[in-house]
Amino acid sequence: MARPPAGLCDTCRHQRVVRNTRGSEFSLCERSRTDPAYPRYPRVPVVRCAGYEPHEAPHARRAG
Ligand code: SF4
Repeated sequence: MARPPAGLCDTCRHQRVVRNTRGSEFSLCERSRTDPAYPRYPRVPVVRCAGYEPHEAPHARRAG
């Protein structure tokens, strides 16, 4: 089953998508493991987050 867009979390390296026994998917914030300021399951869509870090962009090139 499709989950609702999680906003910033969907492109954040700290997101982990977890699935429950009924097949629903949730966006989990792995920062919550080390920092209680972050909820385990943030209310989505997240539009602003101080802890946001984009995924490594494998094709990105540093412009000289
Ligand atoms: S750090 Fe912020 S943007 Fe990233 S997964 Fe957690 S709540 Fe979402």
